[in-house]
Amino acid sequence: MKRQSVKQNNRRFIVDFLRNHEEVPITHITKAVRVSTPTVKKVLDHYMNLGLVIMTGKGESTLEGGKRPELYRLNQEYGYAIALHVGPDFIYGGMTDLKLQNVQSFHEIVDRPVSDEEMVDKLVSIAKDFRKSKWAEGKKLVNVVIALPGIVNAYTGESIYSPHYPQWQENFPFIRKFAERFDMDIPIFLDGVNRLQACAERMKGKARGKQDFLIVDAMEEGVGAGIIVQGTIMHGFNNLSGEIGHVIVDPRGPDCICGGTGCFEAAVSVKHINELLRQGYDTHRGSAIYQGKSPADVSIRDLFIHAKQGDAYAIELLDLIAAYFANGLNNVIMISDPELIIIQGIYVEAGQGFIENIKKKLSELSLPRVKREFDIVYTDFGIERGALGAGCYGISQFFEEQELYR
Ligand SMILES: [Zn+2]
Repeated sequence: MKRQSVKQNNRRFIVDFLRNHEEVPITHITKAVRVSTPTVKKVLDHYMNLGLVIMTGKGESTLEGGKRPELYRLNQEYGYAIALHVGPDFIYGGMTDLKLQNVQSFHEIVDRPVSDEEMVDKLVSIAKDFRKSKWAEGKKLVNVVIALPGIVNAYTGESIYSPHYPQWQENFPFIRKFAERFDMDIPIFLDGVNRLQACAERMKGKARGKQDFLIVDAMEEGVGAGIIVQGTIMHGFNNLSGEIGHVIVDPRGPDCICGGTGCFEAAVSVKHINELLRQGYDTHRGSAIYQGKSPADVSIRDLFIHAKQGDAYAIELLDLIAAYFANGLNNVIMISDPELIIIQGIYVEAGQGFIENIKKKLSELSLPRVKREFDIVYTDFGIERGALGAGCYGISQFFEEQELYR
């Protein structure tokens, strides 16, 4: 616990209260924060001078009649964070205001090898365009947050290793290069995208109010996790925390790009499932999956659709995938003991039955007689989730700055 003066504490509580509410009369604040009206008034005046709080007019008068109270709210357009997400084959960017609204988005497909230096240049140019945009005029840019794939050192700001961009140097000093070219004295943050996605779930998604949870994101090839324990994002000694794509779910399973065998991501990746579907044609030609399609055109989405419609082979295959998920998740559950697991990525389309199946299988794995209470849900976020996570993290860091409460 950081030592803070009473004044700083009051300021912080009041700012936090306004972050979590829309426009409110002063009496709501005094009641929630339990300080006197003159103190609250003084704090509000301080932040109105800064431009962080605004008065929005008058509310309803009380039942007893009397004056209509002034209403206050956080000026969400006071400042913003620039969020940049480098995906396996795309760049997604946005500006996030103080109430976590994504204001303007940028999306670009990356369809050729891009070097580390070139990627920095691209991101700097996108960020500069955001800064020059009409909306950003007169607003304070509070920080820039970059979400990267692969293994990232958030403390040194380096990209350690990126399987999707093998041409990048190892331990490439991403933040230093970005800061030099962006040329503005503000904080620049960098982290692995899955960790930032967990931040988005916590601040505006399915994990609001949760201290112990994780997100699992399964994409075309990789599977990653962002693990939050007691409210803190896990990084680990080697920055490997959350690399659950390489926990073993089946020792006799498929080979993995990492050199291992039977890794979670090798087993459930879209690439592997598509392979299974192609092979399945020889033995399950009658399955509805293959009706009207050549085996080469069948995809994981056909599997989801036909499993829901009751096709025996589709159900069998999805059951195998659920077993892989249960094994993979069981390993993480026994280490981090989450109350909630949020599934992101392609499996969001697999339907509620898929989650129920994973839960059932999990209940039969470790410690079947001990209470292991947790829920598994699908995310509400789509492809924007990486940039959303970066933006949420940026805004949370802005409100963590001690200067704001001095
Ligand atoms: Zn692996």
